[in-house]
Amino acid sequence: MHSDSLHRGRVMTEHYDLLILGGGSGGIATANRAALHGARCALIERGALGGACVNVGCVPKKLLWNAAQLRHSAELATDYGFAPLLGDFDWAANKRARDAYIGKLNGRYATGLADNGVTLITGHGRFADPHTIEVEGKRYQADHIVLATGSRPIRPEVPGASLGITSDDFFALAERPRRAAVVGAGYIAVELACALRRLGCEVSLVMRGAHLLAAFDPMLREGLMEAMTHAGINLLAHRQVAGIRETGTDFALLYEDGESLCGLDSVIWAIGRAPNADTLDLERAGIVPGRGGIVETDSYQNTAVPGIYAIGDLTGRAPLTPVAIAAGRRLADRLFGGQKDRRLDYDLIPTVVFSHPPIGSVGLSEPDARERHGNDAVRVYRTRFAPLSQAFNHYPERTAMKLVTIGREERVVGLHVIGEGADEMLQGFAVAIKMGATKKDLDDTLAIHPTSAEEVVTMR
Ligand code: NDP
Repeated sequence: MHSDSLHRGRVMTEHYDLLILGGGSGGIATANRAALHGARCALIERGALGGACVNVGCVPKKLLWNAAQLRHSAELATDYGFAPLLGDFDWAANKRARDAYIGKLNGRYATGLADNGVTLITGHGRFADPHTIEVEGKRYQADHIVLATGSRPIRPEVPGASLGITSDDFFALAERPRRAAVVGAGYIAVELACALRRLGCEVSLVMRGAHLLAAFDPMLREGLMEAMTHAGINLLAHRQVAGIRETGTDFALLYEDGESLCGLDSVIWAIGRAPNADTLDLERAGIVPGRGGIVETDSYQNTAVPGIYAIGDLTGRAPLTPVAIAAGRRLADRLFGGQKDRRLDYDLIPTVVFSHPPIGSVGLSEPDARERHGNDAVRVYRTRFAPLSQAFNHYPERTAMKLVTIGREERVVGLHVIGEGADEMLQGFAVAIKMGATKKDLDDTLAIHPTSAEEVVTMR
C-alpha cells in the first residue's frame, strides 16, 4: 500500500501519482508506460482485463476471421488439386479455443501490470471529487487521473430491441446462428456478416442508407458490396428498422414501411457504440460531457479539468485500439517521462476492416481529398486485378487499389486497398505515407514479384 489506510482512527485514502479508470488496451498501456517512468500507478477495472478489444472485439473477431479465411483457402485448395479438405465447422469447439486463448491474454495482462508494479483495483470506479475516485466504498486519490473506460454497443429504441443481440453477446453465442440479420453498415456489421457467411450462416445485412462503410473511399465500399453479394450475403439498403417480433421459435425484423424479414434465429445490432461515461459521476469532477456523452479533450488528452485526462473510445475520436494505446503511452511519456510536447498526431491513422476480402485504408478518400485540396490539386491512380493465388478460380475475388495524391510533387495523402493481403500490406506503406512519400518515391521503389503489394509501386 502506498500510503496510510488508517490514520488516527479516520479512514484515509490511498494516494498514487496516477490513477487509471479502465483496464482496456488504452488504460493498461498508459499504466505500464507510466510505471516504467517510475510513477506509482493504480488501475481500476470492474471486468476482465483487456477491455472490449481483447474480450469482445478485435481478438475474438480476428480469430473468427481466421476461421473464415481457412474455409476460403480450403475451397481454393481444390482448384490447386487437393481433395476437399474441410468438414463442418464446429462453432462450440472454436468458441472453447477462443475463450481459452482470451483467458490466457487476461492472465498475461495481470502479470504484466504486477511485474511493472501497477496496483490493480477491482470494481467500478466513480469520482468523489476531482482528485478522488471511489471504488466499492474505498477512496483513492491521485495527482493525475486518466479516464479510459471505453464504449459499449448500443441498441436502437424500437419495440423488441432486447430480442436482438449486440457484438458483446455475439461472442458468447454457444451455437452458430443459422439465419441472421445484421443491422448496421459500419465496421462491426460488415465484419460479423462476412465471417458468419463464410462459416455457413444465411446472412442479411440491413442498412438504413444506400452504402456500407459510408466514410470510406467509394471504391472500397463498392468492391466490398460486390464481393459480399457474390458470397451470398443479402444486402438490404434503405431499410429503416422499426422493431423485432418473436414468432414462435423465430424472429421477424420489422421495417418502418410495414414490410419485414422473417425466419431469423438472430438479429445482431451493429449500429454504433456509446461512451462509458454516464456512470463515472463526472459532475463531481467538474467535467461536462460533450455530444453523445463523450469526454472531450484537447490534442494532449487534457480534459477541461486540470489533472484529468481521457483517452480512447470515451473521447469519441478514432475509436481504434492502437489509437487508445498510442494516446495513453504518449500521455504517460508527457506526464512522467519528461517529454513535455509528446502527444498523438491523429492524422493518417491506418485502419483495416476485417471483411472478406479485407480492406486496408490510410489517409484521405478521393472525395475528401478533392474537398480539402480542390479538384485541380488531386491526382488519383487506380488498379484492379485478380491476384495470382486465385488464378484457377472461375470467379476470382478481385483486388482493387487507389492512390490519392496532391500537388505537383504528387504527395500521397491516401492509399486504399481491398483484396487478399490488404490487411498485412498496409502497415509498411502507412510508414512511407506518414513520412511524406510521393508518387515518385513509390515509382522508385523496386517491386517484389509476384505479389499483390507490388501493384502499389507500379500503378500508372
Ligand atoms: P460504426 O460507427 O463503424 O458504424 C455504425 C453503423 O451503424 C453505421 O453504418 C450507421 O449507418 C449505422 N447505424 C447507426 N444507427 C442506425 C440505426 N438506427 N439503424 C440502422 N443503422 C444505424 O460503428 P460500429 O458499431 O460498427 O463500430 C464502432 C467503432 O469500433 C468503429 O467506428 C471502429 O472505429 C471500431 N471498430 C474497429 C474495427 C477494426 O479496426 N477492424 C472493428 C470493429 C469496430 P450510416 O452509415 O447510415 O450512418
